Amino acid sequence: MILDKFRLDGKVAIVTGSDTGLGQGFSKAFVEAGAKVLGVSVVPSTATQEMLGKENFEFIQADLSTLDPIDNIVKTAVDTFGHVDILVNNAGVIKREDTIDFSVESWDLVMNVNLRTLFFLSQAVAKQYIKQGTGGKIISVASMLSYQGGIRVPSYTASKSGVKGITMTMANEWASKGINVNAIAPGYMATNNTKALRADADRSEAILDRIPAGRWGTPDDIMGAAVFLASPASDYVNGFTIAVDGGWLGR
Ligand code: NAD
Repeated sequence: MILDKFRLDGKVAIVTGSDTGLGQGFSKAFVEAGAKVLGVSVVPSTATQEMLGKENFEFIQADLSTLDPIDNIVKTAVDTFGHVDILVNNAGVIKREDTIDFSVESWDLVMNVNLRTLFFLSQAVAKQYIKQGTGGKIISVASMLSYQGGIRVPSYTASKSGVKGITMTMANEWASKGINVNAIAPGYMATNNTKALRADADRSEAILDRIPAGRWGTPDDIMGAAVFLASPASDYVNGFTIAVDGGWLGR
């Protein structure tokens, strides 16, 4: 039955950036659909664990601006829950500076967290799927700036355009191994990532005016696409970036 294909009973997910915002939305979606989740975050994901219960959600702290934590993330998921079936590359940072003065530090930090670690964590988890002989799902968080240039965010745009591109590359090479690699491009969501925009009355009004749905998105809004891409319902979906944007890209 089709609704059974959306269930995640017995599945294990790794969700990066699980302490807040969209990472909490992914974690909640997976637990409600029947999975266990290992959260990974630079600050403790205590609030998410309180929300979902320790039996469903464990977490480790890791700074994803370097590749150092990768092996331990995969090992902890396997040691804690026995296997891995789903990876969500959700952790991300944004730096806003005029492009003419944009610093090397802001370039490197954003590219390292949003793209470099995302790729090598995906590679490590894909190797685990191959070792398990199970296949699995990889979902990365892209952005409207995978399609558009943005303003004052050159490294963010570069990283998120890169996420959309390597989602296709990884899918091309790993689809034959039963690994589905896809991405979700959220529109303008009410999280820490957009706090500065929402605090700027003019920018906030301009953004809202352009969203056909007429409101900012919330972490709950990505739950449907998250479960779809994590579940057998999407077994023939490969290398695609799904927008969850209240219609923004269509304008
Ligand atoms: P957020 O700023 O609340 O969350 C960012 C998450 O990344 C946090 O969990 C944070 O702990 C984690 N993180 C940041 N630096 C890290 C590091 N060095 N090591 C480990 N974890 C780190 O904002 P959010 O909106 O929930 O962002 C989640 C993802 O969604 C990001 O990739 C972001 O770029 C993307 N996104 C957000 C929006 C939006 O409008 N909010 C739109 C498009 C894409």
